[in-house]
Amino acid sequence: MKRRNILSLVGIVLISTLTVGLLSSFTKGSAGFDGHKFPELGYAYNALEPYIDAQTMEIHYSRHHKAYYTNFMTAAEGTDMLKTPLEQIFSNMGKHSATIRNNAGGHYNHNLFWENMTPVKNEIHAQLKAAIEKEFGSVNAFKETFNKAAMTRFGSGWAWLSVDKNGKLFVSSTANQDNPLMDVVEERGTPILGLDVWEHAYYLKYQNKRVDYVNNFWNVVNWKVVNDRLNAALKK
Ligand code: MN
Repeated sequence: MKRRNILSLVGIVLISTLTVGLLSSFTKGSAGFDGHKFPELGYAYNALEPYIDAQTMEIHYSRHHKAYYTNFMTAAEGTDMLKTPLEQIFSNMGKHSATIRNNAGGHYNHNLFWENMTPVKNEIHAQLKAAIEKEFGSVNAFKETFNKAAMTRFGSGWAWLSVDKNGKLFVSSTANQDNPLMDVVEERGTPILGLDVWEHAYYLKYQNKRVDYVNNFWNVVNWKVVNDRLNAALKK
């Protein structure tokens, strides 16, 4: 076997191993839920360079995400929310305070974002590719739609690829730390890919050029995780 093939095999095994661990923590229902945890990043701060720089990753993960998590835990203290999975909290988002909405949202969205990325180059999976082609015509047309959602989100927010209740894929964007699971957003579904377009996600490296950050995101997408999330969403 050629060296290149061995390396890509190692890559696949590595991605699969990481994914099994990440998804098992993600898909636990309330029965098996053992509290809100601040996640491991799963790769080094500099692992996504040159597309996302080490300093941005460090500040983003250890300060921004950590602050959402800590603020959420503080606001949830002494309530049932400590025993409730985020997905369930989001389905009653309208009943909670803005502090819970922003910080529980921020915690969930960043969990998903870190898992959506990998330093290991990988190709889009056949099943996901077929689902994307069915809805958008082609992978490139899907990327254009997603990029447009990311570019036209005014101010801070996220771009998403989600699965709706009929199993259909759709692209949307949400403001601040909202996400498609929340009962307060217009287009609801289960997010399987998310891109953070807050300036804190790209400003150190890209300054005002959000378009370059958005285009470069495609170099680090973990398609295995997105495909696994698609399957998990379809089983719901
Ligand atoms: Mn962020």
